[in-house]
Amino acid sequence: MQTISNPTQPPELMAKSTSLHGAQSPGDSGKRSVGCTEDKAENNKEEKAPPPQSRESTNNAGYGTESDYDEIASLAEGLGGVSIHPKPIRSILGNVPQAIKSVADLLSSNKCKNIVVLTGAGVSCNARIPDFRTPGTGLYDNLQKYNLPFPEAVFDLGFYRNNPDPFVQLASELWPGLRHSPTITHSFIALLAKKGMLLRNYTQNIDMLDVLAGVPEDKVIECHGHFRTSSCTNCSSAFDGEECKRIIVEEKRAPACKQCGGFVKPDIVFFGESLPLKYHRLVKQDTKMADLLLVMGTSLMVGPVNMIPEMVRSNCPRILLNRELVGTFLRRNGPRTRRKSYDTNAHRDIFHSGDCDDSIRTLCALLGWETELDELNASTRLG
Ligand SMILES: [Zn+2]
Repeated sequence: MQTISNPTQPPELMAKSTSLHGAQSPGDSGKRSVGCTEDKAENNKEEKAPPPQSRESTNNAGYGTESDYDEIASLAEGLGGVSIHPKPIRSILGNVPQAIKSVADLLSSNKCKNIVVLTGAGVSCNARIPDFRTPGTGLYDNLQKYNLPFPEAVFDLGFYRNNPDPFVQLASELWPGLRHSPTITHSFIALLAKKGMLLRNYTQNIDMLDVLAGVPEDKVIECHGHFRTSSCTNCSSAFDGEECKRIIVEEKRAPACKQCGGFVKPDIVFFGESLPLKYHRLVKQDTKMADLLLVMGTSLMVGPVNMIPEMVRSNCPRILLNRELVGTFLRRNGPRTRRKSYDTNAHRDIFHSGDCDDSIRTLCALLGWETELDELNASTRLG
């Protein structure tokens, strides 16, 4: 029986909010987030010059009518949809889970041209990005020498302003593009973009592996920020991203703001900060336009991103490739049992349990995309 806890699938990088501050994410500004965090978001240089993404910029001209959605939903239902214990089917590949076959049929239907992908830390496991919480090996445990008052303090804005060293140490080891290569799953998302099928990739990760895999920046919403740009934690002034990288990675110290002398950090979302404005600006229209939702490698425990599966149209097929059923893909637990049941009425839902890369490989083999996938992945591998 599957459980919520799974040591092989770490929580999302930055999945710090639920345990630290309760149910709300640091970026879940919602109606309660006021004051300097909002001001900072407004002042963020990235937001002042948002990338040119809009409904018009996507590849869906003339697509997305109700009948189209109904047709896709019917297709999903007809394909069997739900699969908790996938029954293998015979094919040229041998035993292929019905769920993966269903996904392949959807993707090859030529009807899914506005796919929204939602990813979490699970898609970066095979890139050997260390997780944060596993006792002994997790990053939090390796920061004990800094005497953090609580592990997540490393991502706490107030703490950073007083003591940036723990985060600097962490960032110097994890800075994207230095040690970790995109996984097969990242390359698959890039392949979807290349084929004109990707509307947007919402990632909860800060490792930038999606962009490094070749997903265009305007197709990626890095819900918890990224390392490409940086700014002052005191006055929000922009600081050169490359210089920030050099100082943190090579000198292992926090850069000082040239305006006020405050500590500078990369523009990843800390406690006390709002999610990027870009997220709030696009998530509603993207979920409305989505003709397929693909959720991969996430525990769906961090808001507000975990609400995305609830935001797509009621007839939008939802696919979960994950080690376990999570979030809204689970129906309520019974009061007297720990058993996780599944909403068998949710014909639009398809679930396959397993390693994301394994699932994607099988899927691409069915689609005939395997060679293209491998070539794309090889071209982005470090070293
Ligand atoms: Zn400053």
